This record gives sequence, structure tokens and C-alpha cells, in this order.
Amino acid sequence: SQLIDQIAAGEVVERPASVAKELIENSLDAGARRIEVDLEQGGVKLLRIRDDGHGIPAEELALALARHATSKIGGLADLEAVASLGFRGEALPSIASVSRLTLTSRAAGADHAWQVRVDGDGRVGEPQPAAHPQGTTVEVRDLFFNVPARRKFLRTEKTELGHLEQVVRRMALVRPEIGLRLTHAGRSLLDLPAAADEAVVERRLEALLGAAFLGHALRLDAAAVGLRLHGWLVRPAFSRSQADMQFFFVNGRPVRDKLVAHAVRRAFQDVLHHARHPAYLLYLELPARLVDVNVHPAKQEVRFREGRQVHDFIFRSLQRRLAEGGL
Ligand code: ADP
Ligand code: MG
Repeated sequence: SQLIDQIAAGEVVERPASVAKELIENSLDAGARRIEVDLEQGGVKLLRIRDDGHGIPAEELALALARHATSKIGGLADLEAVASLGFRGEALPSIASVSRLTLTSRAAGADHAWQVRVDGDGRVGEPQPAAHPQGTTVEVRDLFFNVPARRKFLRTEKTELGHLEQVVRRMALVRPEIGLRLTHAGRSLLDLPAAADEAVVERRLEALLGAAFLGHALRLDAAAVGLRLHGWLVRPAFSRSQADMQFFFVNGRPVRDKLVAHAVRRAFQDVLHHARHPAYLLYLELPARLVDVNVHPAKQEVRFREGRQVHDFIFRSLQRRLAEGGL
């Protein structure tokens, strides 16, 4: 029902940035090579995400907006090893229940696109033929127009835009092979070509983190017991703005995790004897069955099956690399 959708929306949809996160993850799951994000008024008035992924077949369009209608879990085995970013089938119906949403999609091989609209009342309109290249566009207008209590909690346009940019930047860091464009009120904020080689990856990192980051960074690549940790480490406090230059990705998913943060901080502390604002960009890869991403709908948290082992692996890898010197 619409009420259930709105309650679920309270968990999944906090602000425009959380809408963008869910929609970009859907685009990634659909195998997109390029994603374009267009915003107006900090994403509140308009948040439009277009991708060139595999699209949604006409007969599944309305279903995509139905609660728990995920196409991504085949069975219990899948549930235990969630590899795709989305897996709950909640995002689209939740977002649709608190906005005016238009979903336009052309499936691979289809000769044209179809479009459905929901105006926050839970009723999905009849699919209409539409013009669109292969892929999907989700247009979210007037976020929280029908939930004044939530609308009241939105901050200034600038603040909401800042959160949105962070989401897009994190995605750009974790998937350099995907082209990304971000505009606000018609103005280009980010335009990143798909990175095919290391040089383009480094140019993207410079564009996202500033040239100083790579200039000060130590390359890390460590593997043990089926885990791999790679990325860059930067000396604590090399720049004033580095408090928010802490990026950790687990199996391609941006993660904020106490265990991870602790392991990193301890390694910096252990070797450099101070750990205030270390900067890092780290990618941890491990078998999907060893990490539970089904902790919270917003999916920033993870739970490791072998927390101790993961903690020690991160700590030791960083400790060893930092001790080798170079920072
Ligand atoms: P989930 O991602 O958890 O499956 P969502 O509510 O986010 O749930 O999306 C519902 C379904 O709609 C997805 O399972 C997928 O089949 C389809 N879908 C949503 N966005 C896209 C997209 N950009 N491209 C292709 N299919 C999509
Ligand atoms: Mg999803």
C-alpha cells in the first residue's frame, strides 16, 4: 500500500542524495557504461538519472514499481551471496511514494521505449510508448511534495547538492570504467570519461580528489587468505580538507564501517604515531559469502562473517606498507 511504501521510504529515502544513490546502483546493476545525472534545486525539484544499461522489458515496467519486486534474487542461495548492489526491491516503490516519478526504459532488442508515471499516490499509470535509446531514465520530481514533515527536514539547496555530489563522486571512484556526468541547473559539475587504462583512472582521481592526493599517495596492493586490499594511502593531515577523504569500498560498494575505520586508524597510529585524518582510498575484495550487506536499507553498513580476520588483514596490510616507508 501507499502508506507502507511511505514508511519504507523513511528508511531508504532520507534526502535527494539517497535517491541518487539507489538509482545509480540500479543503473550499475543494469550494466550501464555511462550514467548521466541532472539536477535542479539541489535535486529536490528534479533528479533525473539516465543510463545505457540493459533496460526493462515493457511487461516488467509496472512490476519494477511494485513492492519487493526485485529481479535480482533468484533464491536462497542468492540471498546468501548478494552480488548485485540492489536486492530488496524497495527503492523504486519507496521513491515513487514520495515524489512524482517517471520511469522510461527501452530494453535491449526492443524497437522502442515505454514510459510509466506514478504521482505519489501509489497508482501506476498505463505504460505509454516513448522515445529513448536502449537503457533507462528515472525522473524524480518534487521530492516529498506529499510528505511536508519530511520536506521540512531538507536543508538548503547548497547542502543537498553537496550530499549529492558526494554520492556521485564515490560512485565515480569505485567504478572508473563507467562514464559519468553530473549537471545542476544546466551547469556541468562533473564530466568524467570512462577510464580504460591506469592513466585515465589517475586523471579521474585527480579530478575527484585533487592533484595533491595522488602526489602524496602511497600505492598499496595486498592479498592474503582470499582477501585483497588495494588502493592509496596518504599521510595524515596533508591537507585541511582531508577529513572527508576517507574512501573505503567493499566489493564495489561504498562503506562506512567502524571495524574498518578502526583497523585503518590503528595502522596509521602504529607506524606513524598519529592518526588524525589519515586520507585513503581503499578497495577491499572478498568472497560475497563472507560479507553481509543486508544490514540496513541504506546499505552503507556491512557485516563481515569473519570480522576479526578482516580487521587483522586490513591492519597488517596497512601496517606493512606504511612501515616500508615513502609517506
Ligand atoms: P532492487 O534494486 O532492490 O531490485 P529497486 O526498487 O531498486 O529494487 O528496483 C526494482 C527493479 O526495477 C529492479 O530489480 C530492476 O529489475 C528494475 N530496475 C530498476 N532500475 C533499473 C535500471 N536503471 N535499469 C534496469 N532495470 C532497472
Ligand atoms: Mg535498487
